Amino acid sequence: TIAYLNGEFVPLEQARISPLDRGFLFGDGIYEVIPSYAGKMVGFSQHMARFAKGLAAIEIDYKIDRDEWQTLVQRLIDDNRETLGDNIGVYLHVSRGADTRRYHAYPEGVTPTVFGFAFALSAPVKADRHAHPGASVSLAEDLRWERCHIKSTALLGNVMHFQQSVKEGNAETLLYNHQGEITEASSSNVFIIKDGKAFTPPLDNQLLPGITRMLVLECLKIAGIEVSEEVITVGELLAADEVWITSSGKEILPIVKVGDNQIGDGKVGEIWEKVFSVYSEQKFVL
Ligand code: PMP
Repeated sequence: TIAYLNGEFVPLEQARISPLDRGFLFGDGIYEVIPSYAGKMVGFSQHMARFAKGLAAIEIDYKIDRDEWQTLVQRLIDDNRETLGDNIGVYLHVSRGADTRRYHAYPEGVTPTVFGFAFALSAPVKADRHAHPGASVSLAEDLRWERCHIKSTALLGNVMHFQQSVKEGNAETLLYNHQGEITEASSSNVFIIKDGKAFTPPLDNQLLPGITRMLVLECLKIAGIEVSEEVITVGELLAADEVWITSSGKEILPIVKVGDNQIGDGKVGEIWEKVFSVYSEQKFVL
């Protein structure tokens, strides 16, 4: 596959960075993952806006030119479709760059490392609740850092939480804070449905402002379903009629089991089907 590194398109196997890169030594960088289907991207502008915000938050001096990046990302998709197929995620990464000292403070005069590559995504599922078995998830206290709104490449906390779900044979790990409030999952956001109404935790430092979350909020409005961004306790989650997790790779995944608890009647819900069908139609235009 063809990758992008510091201004050039190169075969992925030939892409090389310094072991002194602070992305490697400190996880000192910001990343994005943009999904695409049959060559068309989902939420490109929103992903770029979040990318720029993340870089500003950690003071990496790198300005993202939206149009230039659109061309770059589109080329990674187009040039890799033959090998990867129609469903492609593009990973983009800007790290602070390589510094010869190993010193925590942000160095001056270091050039950021800019990297992008394409990988195969799974094909979108059909918006048919009878054809979807629903997924199960683990549940754990969030033991990551307190800046979860920054899409940092330092993902060990997320990796460890996700690994729990793998060990338990589940698709994800839902996370709650010290107050017993659901924040997000290790690599997804969370929605619940109760009595026909949708809820998702409000944005703050405890969760990533997911682009899919943002698109799903739009789709709920289009579908005429009332939605509220408010605190969801673990108890409320377990008593919900439907639970969904959202991310660029998973789109909207319906959850029918959380730990040992069945959600609703244990089947994928009607509202998921309705909203996911709107999402499937609208995702390229929102
Ligand atoms: N939360 C976390 C911690 C994530 O890593 C992700 C991205 N995989 C999400 C939520 C979902 O974000 P998006 O919809 O932008 O992919």
